[in-house]
Amino acid sequence: MSVDDSDQGHAIRTGGRGARVSGPRVLVAGASIAGPALAHWLCRRGAAVTVVERAPELRPGGQAVDARGVAKEVIGRMGLDAAVRAACTDTAGAHTVDADGQVLETFRADDDGGDGFIADIEILRGDLSQVLYDATRDGVEYVFGDRIAELAQDADGVDVVFASGNRRRFDLVVGADGLHSELRAMVFGPHERFLRHLGHMLAFYSVPNEFGLDRWLLEYQDQESGRSALLRPIQDATRAMAVFYSTSADFDVDHRDVAAQKRLLRERMAGLGWLAPEILAHLDDTPDFYLDQVAQVVMDRWSSGRVGLLGDAAFSSSPMSGQGTGLALVGAYLLAGELAAAEWDPDAGFARYEARMRSFVEANQEIGRLNARSRDVPGPDAEPRPDFTGEWFTELVGRAINGVELPDYTGVPDSAAPAGSPITSSAKL
Ligand SMILES: Cc1cc2nc3c(=O)[nH]c(=O)nc-3n(C[C@H](O)[C@H](O)[C@H](O)COP(=O)(O)OP(=O)(O)OC[C@H]3O[C@@H](n4cnc5c(N)ncnc54)[C@H](O)[C@@H]3O)c2cc1C
Repeated sequence: MSVDDSDQGHAIRTGGRGARVSGPRVLVAGASIAGPALAHWLCRRGAAVTVVERAPELRPGGQAVDARGVAKEVIGRMGLDAAVRAACTDTAGAHTVDADGQVLETFRADDDGGDGFIADIEILRGDLSQVLYDATRDGVEYVFGDRIAELAQDADGVDVVFASGNRRRFDLVVGADGLHSELRAMVFGPHERFLRHLGHMLAFYSVPNEFGLDRWLLEYQDQESGRSALLRPIQDATRAMAVFYSTSADFDVDHRDVAAQKRLLRERMAGLGWLAPEILAHLDDTPDFYLDQVAQVVMDRWSSGRVGLLGDAAFSSSPMSGQGTGLALVGAYLLAGELAAAEWDPDAGFARYEARMRSFVEANQEIGRLNARSRDVPGPDAEPRPDFTGEWFTELVGRAINGVELPDYTGVPDSAAPAGSPITSSAKL
């Protein structure tokens, strides 16, 4: 890919192979999970890809995320199975405990064929992001510390003005910029229109493992207040990742104001038992911190002309589903495949991607809503807690894990296919 460094004011990593690509130029916003995964598949299908990430570098941190069912299949097709497994957490399972630390329930990582509550592919979000970035950095132009400031599309392309002042033209633009997607707001409308709050708040950060954790995750739930605290070992159990949930999600704190978020967490978790006070004592010395409302994104359409959305930006199922990463990986495979199969025609490509993904997304969003409801504080007006023992739930979980077809895209260009594979389509752009 040819990249003119002279028009870039910010840190750039350009493809090391120097190959010129004749396919479409695609701009992807966001370098977490969905962005680099999409970049991987777009490159393989012959596109020239630029990923712009708002943060100055790849963002570390985040809780463990899981890949189950078809998402595992996508990782395999990416050729990243070994790299992902090498970076996986070594979690044996989870115990729920009471305020004194007595075990109430146990879930093992090999339950349900490795696709259970703790999946056998369980990896810290930041580590998965690093694996995806390392696998794509040689063929993709990554621009850190910048973002799209303005964008205007016409029949043939999209003119983009970056916050740095750079101007460039692309054939397609995809927003993989998360729950609070700026691209979505710019093209589709204000956040309030698409965010469905599930009435919970979630925070996590890492702490020294002074709690004697080995390979087991511990969770304490205070049923009366609807709050819970969770600890899991990370980094060879030298540190632990702490997670707090609260059912009172009505707060007005900017999602980038970390000091205000920490104050809020201290207030909301005051009086919570178990190890909560010891965990909260590390709030000011943690190197990472994340707090947000638990929300889903529900949209009628995930594209408008030459601009599309992927991952949490389009269809967040919320951490309550445990499937946000799987949706991002599967969506990336299908979006690149369908665009290439449609010879990069945006209307056809985006429409087929959406038709394939929608019911899969809906099953996962349903799981997120049910899990959130199961944590609601009981009361006269509260909806009854779902009964997860029913057959309907097993059927729903099956659809949420495997309920989407992954076409082989035979005949669509694939640079990773063995030499001699048929290449039948050509770019229309
Ligand atoms: C720091 C972090 C920690 C997370 N931790 C967890 C977790 O513990 N558990 C969980 O279930 N989910 C977590 N998530 C969300 C999880 O990664 C997603 O649900 C899922 O993996 C889908 O990812 P995504 O790439 O669509 O969105 P995200 O992972 O949210 O990534 C969006 C990316 O876009 C970038 N970005 C934002 N705005 C712009 C912009 N205007 N221009 C360019 N780039 C932009 C962000 O910096 C981020 O890198 C976390 C996300 C982040 C960013």
